[in-house]
Amino acid sequence: MTVTRFLGPLDIAVVGCGVAGQAAATLLADTGHRVTIYERFTQPQPVGAGLLLQPTGLAVLRQLGLADAAIAGGARIAGLEARTHRGRSILDLRYADLHPLAFAVGIPRATLFDLLHARLGKSTAKLVTGAEIVDVDQTHLVEENGARHGPFDLIVAADGAHSALRSRLIPHARAPIYPWGCMWTTAPDLAGIGAAGLLRQRVRGTTLMMGLLPIGPRHGQDEVTIYWSMPMRALGRSKTIDLAAWRRAATALWPEAAPIIDHAAAAGDFARATYRHVALTHWNAGPVLFIGDAAHGTSPQLGQGANLGLMDAWVLAETLAEAPDLLSAFLRFERCRVPPVRYYRNASHLLTPFFQSRLAPLGWLRDAVMGPACHVPGLRTMMGSTLAGTRRGWLSTTKLGDDGCFPLDAF
Ligand SMILES: Cc1cc2nc3c(=O)[nH]c(=O)nc-3n(C[C@H](O)[C@H](O)[C@H](O)COP(=O)(O)OP(=O)(O)OC[C@H]3O[C@@H](n4cnc5c(N)ncnc54)[C@H](O)[C@@H]3O)c2cc1C
Repeated sequence: MTVTRFLGPLDIAVVGCGVAGQAAATLLADTGHRVTIYERFTQPQPVGAGLLLQPTGLAVLRQLGLADAAIAGGARIAGLEARTHRGRSILDLRYADLHPLAFAVGIPRATLFDLLHARLGKSTAKLVTGAEIVDVDQTHLVEENGARHGPFDLIVAADGAHSALRSRLIPHARAPIYPWGCMWTTAPDLAGIGAAGLLRQRVRGTTLMMGLLPIGPRHGQDEVTIYWSMPMRALGRSKTIDLAAWRRAATALWPEAAPIIDHAAAAGDFARATYRHVALTHWNAGPVLFIGDAAHGTSPQLGQGANLGLMDAWVLAETLAEAPDLLSAFLRFERCRVPPVRYYRNASHLLTPFFQSRLAPLGWLRDAVMGPACHVPGLRTMMGSTLAGTRRGWLSTTKLGDDGCFPLDAF
């Protein structure tokens, strides 16, 4: 008879206090491991736009006891609607097609960060700030100033898409920057565009795209996050953004959104975002396991990055709880995470040039094909489940449970 011995409490370092890092540190501490999380900022802070929490990410937040607060702190999203500047529908998807109770949540990144951070504070995980980790020496973390921390049994690298640890430990990893990024801001929904609870997009060809994501009320006024697609060369820190020109272009693309656009242009509080297409052949280098954007950054076209990072965190805690040793845990983790991550990374990569590129024919094809495809039953389900984050690959998906929630034990 063979006896399976499970891993005892481990000394674990998590690098990066973002979505994936905080969730992983909390879940690992909750299962009895001794966890320390290292963050380069002195004051950990959310970076980036409001985001869409899919049923997958919400299921992990439910495990952390944060789902109700996330729903209350954001806006319920019933689906996605994208139209051309002429009003032609190119995407029209609803979560309710998968299950009548299913929905997503548009949430300010600061709200999600605060929820995860408060929950981390209630766990036994320790937080070390102002620690820029640039290397791993066997079982120790090495800071930029040479300070060392450790030893650790496991190091979880959750230092984001531009991961320094990935460049250092897996130098051959592919992680090219997409040729297009976006600028974004948050503004009051002065046009009532979010009232229908939809993530809305307007496009013209492949060079103009604007998105409006409802993210719930602040000071009694509903707000939306605005995304505006831009080529990389216009996004450099040294480039100034001509907001008067943006206002004209955005209003011409989406006249009904003019009050929101005017307000955003006057406030001028835009941030810039670039994305990487990260593809690792293995997720670990010795005792270092990569999760979140550090392992699989993509363009945000499908709104999955944070959700995939939350799922990584949950699966990691589960596999560590069940595996007899670290190597088996890594193998199980990869077996669970590679299929959905590969699907979403490839699907995002495939889809992005249809929305962000200079390849005009892709825009014509998109406008001609995607709208009708949304009405073909099998394709509609595939597109809807892709949006909801439930796909495990091109041919398989995980069905939502009877309550309309994503069943985490299916993984
Ligand atoms: C415009 C835009 C819109 C998006 N919309 C969505 C959406 O709707 N839905 C969705 O699911 N995803 C969305 N995403 C993707 C999502 O933001 C990312 O996938 C997610 O934030 C990744 O989380 P992470 O924890 O892996 O990395 P990050 O959130 O980047 O966190 C990394 C952390 O590591 C820290 N760090 C970095 N380097 C070091 C170091 N050397 N030492 C110590 N600490 C370090 C950073 O300071 C940071 O705190 C969007 C992204 C963009 C750019």
